[in-house]
Amino acid sequence: MSDLTKLTLTDAVKGLKAKDFSAREITQAHLDVIDKANPQINAYTLVTGEKALEMADASDAKLAKGEGGILEGAPIGVKELFCTKGVRTTACSDILGNFVPTYESTVTQNLWDQGAVMLGKLNMDQFAMGSSNETSSFGNVVNPWRRVGDETQLTPGGSSGGSAASVAADMCLAATASDTGGSIRQPAAFTGTVGIKPTYGRASRYGMVAFASSLDQAGPIAKNVEDTALMLEVMCSADDKDSTSLHVDTPKWTQSLSKGVKGMKIGIPKEYRVDGMSDEIEALWQQGIEWLKAAGAEIVDVSLPHTKYALPAYYIVAPAEASSNLARYDGMRYGVRKEGENLDDTYATTRAEGFGEEVKRRLMIGAYVLSAGYYDAYYLKAQKVRQRILMDFQEAYKQCDALLTPTCPSAAFGLGEKSADPVEMYLNDIFTVTANLAGLPAMSLPVSLNKQGLPLSLQIIGKALDEESCFRVAKVIEDSAGFSAKAKEWWA
Ligand code: GLN
Repeated sequence: MSDLTKLTLTDAVKGLKAKDFSAREITQAHLDVIDKANPQINAYTLVTGEKALEMADASDAKLAKGEGGILEGAPIGVKELFCTKGVRTTACSDILGNFVPTYESTVTQNLWDQGAVMLGKLNMDQFAMGSSNETSSFGNVVNPWRRVGDETQLTPGGSSGGSAASVAADMCLAATASDTGGSIRQPAAFTGTVGIKPTYGRASRYGMVAFASSLDQAGPIAKNVEDTALMLEVMCSADDKDSTSLHVDTPKWTQSLSKGVKGMKIGIPKEYRVDGMSDEIEALWQQGIEWLKAAGAEIVDVSLPHTKYALPAYYIVAPAEASSNLARYDGMRYGVRKEGENLDDTYATTRAEGFGEEVKRRLMIGAYVLSAGYYDAYYLKAQKVRQRILMDFQEAYKQCDALLTPTCPSAAFGLGEKSADPVEMYLNDIFTVTANLAGLPAMSLPVSLNKQGLPLSLQIIGKALDEESCFRVAKVIEDSAGFSAKAKEWWA
């Protein structure tokens, strides 16, 4: 029965509708893999097995009558940052303790409304701050992938490391994730999975634990391009509960995937050819270009001149918003309270003990850049840079329909390799933060294995609201690459 976990989401949904197997069978098959793999990979922080089987039985009852939603009976995982009614949600921080939400996030509600089955909650960097999943209060996730002939444990990326690892190790058919500066795309790239961050405002932020509200966006991680399109169609919706939600229709991306790229113009931004870029990344990028050319796309060189300011701007704007958003964790309303000598002391002790090191670092940076004497020099300046970055993209899109870049400067690195130096960790986000600063859709998909046997990925950045072009380009690259490698199952 364990073969059911090897199915793509799309095929699983078809199989369920055709009654080739039941929702209970495919859910149980995933729970069995989780039982074996999770003690070693640590992707799930909580497995909701009983609830999953109940949801599966409800799906089977609907399927028996020929009813059911788009994802009826399909078991998926949920990142710890989505509030799930009655199910613990901690954003992987001690400060939330055993917080159990009394309400459901819009994104997860949309998934349950279409029949998806919840397997459990997925590990992540604390409050989604990190690129390696090492800041989680539940401990790091281990990447299912290893270098050939080398047992070094690698990071699955972050912050959605649990989402990416669980998809890569067949512990769910697909997972929800979120992306503030690359947290869907970089973990997808490190684990040979596919992820998309839609246009800012496409997916509701209601019920998602906030990190940096003007950058945060939900999206899926799944096994292939079609599955991400299917997940995204269900996750997105106009939502009155989120004032930044876009009131636009959600297209049927699954139906336009195969339109090809003939006549499309694909921009190659020269500033992404950064100093010291490795030959393997350069070759990967060139290969992507060749495939798109062969499929009838025209390749154009474009310039995004403010790219070099993107990381500094991001690491000002994101901590500033975080310091404001995380002010609500004071021991009075949510999670844990550490009593101090008086009220102020209780606030301070609760926050000092509840937040992890990386979160505290960001809160201090955020408070600093927003403080009266430094607001103009840092925060305001970063906002101006952000506007310039958006204008760069607008200018580039006069010449092309979408951009092709690498997702990350390297393949997955070792656990502990970069965690001692925060700046080195931040540099990993160099290709991903720009899309968040500009609010644009961006997608990552695996293309090949490097010499060490680790997946490498390309990124497609689209115009605002043009996820369709991202999917079309991705589909052509996916078909050309024929990437079907899976991690060796050392956990089985
Ligand atoms: N790695 C980036 C950061 O630490 C992005 C995180 C994210 O997208 N949530 O801020």
